[in-house]
Amino acid sequence: MRPIQMVDLKQQYLAISDKVNAAISEVLNSSIFIGGPQVNSFSQSLAAYLGVKHVIPCANGTDALQIAMMALGLQPGDEVITPSFTFVATTEVIALMKLKPVFVEVDTKTFCISPNAIRKAINPKTKAIVPVHLYGHSAPMEEIMEIAREHNLYVIEDNAQAIGSDYTFKNGTTKKTGSIGDISCTSFFPSKNLGCYGDGGAMCTNDDTLAEKLKMIANHGQKTRYYHEIVGCNSRLDALQAAILNIKLPLLDSYIDARRKAADFYDSAFAQNNKITIPFRAAYCKHVFHQYTLILEGVDRNGLVEYLSENNIPSMIYYPVPAHKQQMFAEWGGADYHLEKTDWLTHRVVSLPMHTELDEDQLNFISKNVLEFINK
Ligand SMILES: *Cc1c(COP(=O)(O)O)cnc(C)c1O
Repeated sequence: MRPIQMVDLKQQYLAISDKVNAAISEVLNSSIFIGGPQVNSFSQSLAAYLGVKHVIPCANGTDALQIAMMALGLQPGDEVITPSFTFVATTEVIALMKLKPVFVEVDTKTFCISPNAIRKAINPKTKAIVPVHLYGHSAPMEEIMEIAREHNLYVIEDNAQAIGSDYTFKNGTTKKTGSIGDISCTSFFPSKNLGCYGDGGAMCTNDDTLAEKLKMIANHGQKTRYYHEIVGCNSRLDALQAAILNIKLPLLDSYIDARRKAADFYDSAFAQNNKITIPFRAAYCKHVFHQYTLILEGVDRNGLVEYLSENNIPSMIYYPVPAHKQQMFAEWGGADYHLEKTDWLTHRVVSLPMHTELDEDQLNFISKNVLEFINK
């Protein structure tokens, strides 16, 4: 059996190495390293895939969130509602922009922001909501967009973990996550569902004015070279990464299928165990399993992680400390929050290896070891 990795980037690369190596050589020979045809064609292909009007590439997913908040003209002190149960980037950028992060609960089934919690947190200072499609499961976007319209709030989708996921509205229309909010942000960090071989990210929008602004901000606030209209930053997806993404984007749906197949395998192994809750799949979305995350009850979680590790099976706790309990948010009143559901999840989740190259032997071995520990 091949060694088990949390994410097997090497094995995935080997399957496409000829194409990737040729694409990299092509960029090297062209020596167009910044901007150029690879970046433009990737942006267009991704826009077509997601069904959005504009894709603006940038240096990473964290920058994408920052530039989105800059483009919306949010002002210091404006309140931005966000889940506490997320990767730090979502919340960090709010604070970096001197906005006020308002941490709210997630639904313990979907791990995503709770519409009721959003409603309770809204006040006249609220300007935006940042739902996170955590682990590859979409947040309840239809309700979130309704709340946003009612209260005149912006919605920035954090789509870093769910690129390729579908969302079906009550009237039967289906859209890709990342095409629903005012702006969406994604990351091409290597381990993401659509990963490059370094850093990369993108912002998406259907709004022409916002698209122009996002593009300017990511490029030193200029439309015309050396004429800087607004304060921006420097955030670019480079041509080598774009060339790699041009190879990988057409494979994204097959990568998602492979992840879902691995998830199905795990599901059937664990569904009957009363100490394990398998990942919920809401009927409104297609789960793309960036992570396969279990909720454990009455299980020594550290013991399990250790046991798996002794058997050369990696596992991870995403995330061991929710945002409101991070030291960085002490001055934003993090300690004043009481988010019982978030804390409850934080103590019970565990993520198992999840990637496109898991085979049955590996999945069998992982499941068997998890159950051995839990049933002992
Ligand atoms: C990875 C990630 C980001 C940030 O992406 P980077 O490219 O690493 O900056 C933001 N939000 C979520 C939910 C993520 O998983």
